Amino acid sequence: MKKNTPDQYQEIRDAVRALCAEFPDEYHRKIDHERGYPEAFVDALTKAGWLAAMIPVEYGGSGLGLTEASVIMEEINRSGANAGACHGQMYNMGTLLKHGSKAQKDLYLPKIASGEWRLQSMGVTEPSTGTDTTKIKTTAVKKGDRYVINGQKVWISRVQHSDWMILLARTTPLAEVKKKSEGMSIFMVDLRLAEKTGMTVRPIANMVNHETNELFFENLEIPAENLIGVEGQGFKYILDGLNAERALIAAECIGDGYWFIDRVTKYVSERVVFGRPIGQNQGVQFPIAEAFIEIEAANLMRYKACALFDANQPCGAEANMAKLLAAKSSWEAGNACLQFHGGFGFATEYDIERKFRETRLYQVAPISTNLILSYIAEHELGLPRSF
Ligand SMILES: Cc1cc2nc3c(=O)[nH]c(=O)nc-3n(C[C@H](O)[C@H](O)[C@H](O)COP(=O)(O)OP(=O)(O)OC[C@H]3O[C@@H](n4cnc5c(N)ncnc54)[C@H](O)[C@@H]3O)c2cc1C
Repeated sequence: MKKNTPDQYQEIRDAVRALCAEFPDEYHRKIDHERGYPEAFVDALTKAGWLAAMIPVEYGGSGLGLTEASVIMEEINRSGANAGACHGQMYNMGTLLKHGSKAQKDLYLPKIASGEWRLQSMGVTEPSTGTDTTKIKTTAVKKGDRYVINGQKVWISRVQHSDWMILLARTTPLAEVKKKSEGMSIFMVDLRLAEKTGMTVRPIANMVNHETNELFFENLEIPAENLIGVEGQGFKYILDGLNAERALIAAECIGDGYWFIDRVTKYVSERVVFGRPIGQNQGVQFPIAEAFIEIEAANLMRYKACALFDANQPCGAEANMAKLLAAKSSWEAGNACLQFHGGFGFATEYDIERKFRETRLYQVAPISTNLILSYIAEHELGLPRSF
């Protein structure tokens, strides 16, 4: 087992661990098998206030920073659960907090903090444009006191378990803007109302138990007051939220990584083959030790990214690097864990194959490792733009 040296977040860790302990492996295994949603778990996290950690105290939250939020997400994944069911609320709220008007904050934040409303969804990705976000084709056209939305989104998560979604749409055609990142705006979409008035939801069955969907918009009308911030500046706002998302997902991967390390070190210490514990063989020790070193290194970058975000400093490079390092290290740890459990790693009752699938996602979503590398090459190293 990895040594658990107490840190300054120990109180948060202990409290989240205690809550998570009420939802043992069997609970998450059953939900995964049924492709269900962990309602009771998310409700318990909400009631205990953990999902409102970043909401200021005056709106009913705890007023904590991204660093503390990341510790909460890390502990959820480290317990064997998957924060993918509820992490959206943490970073979506950040967008509202930083760029919403006072009236919007007054309306949404207390209800999100109390758990009356969930803000778990963010609609950015589109089928025909993929990672090339500035080419999105979903449009929002202003007509009087409303915006009319037309277009399509894909891979939009937690729509069926959220009340609101933050939607990115083009308000000025690409051909009419000076910079391609201009002319996009973000909106709050009332999901249940939208389903009755122009939005169709089609679930996508996928490798992980991650509730995600295709969305089709046909003349969906939303009130103009649901626009967040200034029209045309939405891409800038969404980037802020994406940095928070990357740092939080890095923390989740780190939680996964420690979970794999704990499981595999225990198993290889106990499993005896050829008359000795398999963990006595260096061929078994080294991949585990290497993955552990990588997780520890990713952890440092995750704290750096969170500290910069909390200090309102630019953190694009650090958030991206943390996400890349953490996703790779949890995958390495998962691989070692699966490998050294031999055949038992494939048995669902060990939960390793489930966590293995869950952590693999983070090398593709919310941004692929290749796109992070190209961001660092261009923005940190000054290499020529490749696209
Ligand atoms: C389970 C799941 C949940 C998701 N949830 C959400 C959500 O809630 N909201 C949302 O908006 N989106 C969501 N996504 C979408 C996710 O963010 C995208 O899948 C991801 O950004 C990659 O986009 P894409 O699938 O269109 O891949 P593409 O853009 O088609 O890229 C495919 C692959 O090609 C490579 N590639 C592409 N361009 C380049 C390049 N220029 N250089 C080098 N390599 C390149 C990369 O390896 C990439 O993985 C989710 C996805 C999944 C699978």
